[in-house]
Amino acid sequence: MITDIVRPNTVAEALRAKSMPGAAYLGGGTWLNAGGGPEPSILISLENLGLATIEVAEEGCTIGAAVSFQQLIDTAGVPGAVKAAARLTASRTLRNMQTVGGELGLCPADSALIPVLVALDAAVLLAGSRKPLPIGDFWVDKPDDLVLSVTIPEEGRTAAVRAVSRTSHSPRSLVVVAGAPGRNGGQACMVLSDCREECVVIREPELNRWPLPTREKIEEMVRAAFSPTADIHASAAYKRYVAAVLAADLLHGLAAGKVTA
Ligand SMILES: Cc1cc2nc3c(=O)[nH]c(=O)nc-3n(C[C@H](O)[C@H](O)[C@H](O)COP(=O)(O)OP(=O)(O)OC[C@H]3O[C@@H](n4cnc5c(N)ncnc54)[C@H](O)[C@@H]3O)c2cc1C
Repeated sequence: MITDIVRPNTVAEALRAKSMPGAAYLGGGTWLNAGGGPEPSILISLENLGLATIEVAEEGCTIGAAVSFQQLIDTAGVPGAVKAAARLTASRTLRNMQTVGGELGLCPADSALIPVLVALDAAVLLAGSRKPLPIGDFWVDKPDDLVLSVTIPEEGRTAAVRAVSRTSHSPRSLVVVAGAPGRNGGQACMVLSDCREECVVIREPELNRWPLPTREKIEEMVRAAFSPTADIHASAAYKRYVAAVLAADLLHGLAAGKVTA
């Protein structure tokens, strides 16, 4: 049972509050208040910490942990693939509540946002550290720290995301992201998540060459690297097949400027 909600005014106060037994940071509460995990007894609201802002600058786009998914969509300068990942939550009500910090705090297996952040080489700033942690390392380690913000470097690179789910409101069975280098840098990559246990990042040098390897070659690359686990809506063979086709389509589409995020 929730017995208290605290509203710290500084990060230091928030960290102190978290050391109390049963305390949890409150993002949008969509998971926390839905009985998804052990019920906390103390909620730590982040509303007074100034984390609900997005800064778009030459060096990159910095997204505060309390920014909602709808804010990502509504703010100019947020990379298109990040907006597209947020739009994959079909319910606007949910998008208005769900926060970037909550998504990172939970790291749900069917996240579409996190694979996009991986493709864009984002870094996560945690309370108490000066140096942001690369999102790939964050995803593996899943530190239990307070997320302050995420920064996406301004490299001019592009990415595109596609997901497979039974309905627009069902948990996802597959997320595929392709990233292409931009004029200013970045590396091509493919990020494949089976929304269960397996997430593979493919960064082969030949993906950065022009012309790109053929669709068939890219499909082969994906099938060799990706061993998804089946779920109730999609067999392992289906996931592997669709991931290969989507990844090849997205990479070729990005290279030809014909794919939107
Ligand atoms: C019924 C239901 C339907 C859902 N539908 C969808 C859907 O359609 N699409 C979708 O993408 N997801 C969906 N989800 C999953 C869930 O809503 C997401 O994972 C969401 O991103 C959680 O964000 P939040 O801000 O609401 O987090 P919260 O529920 O507030 O918190 C989630 C976790 O993150 C921690 N946390 C919060 N903020 C921070 C921070 N700044 N630093 C560190 N840790 C933090 C919390 O303590 C908690 O452990 C659904 C969940 C439920 C229960």
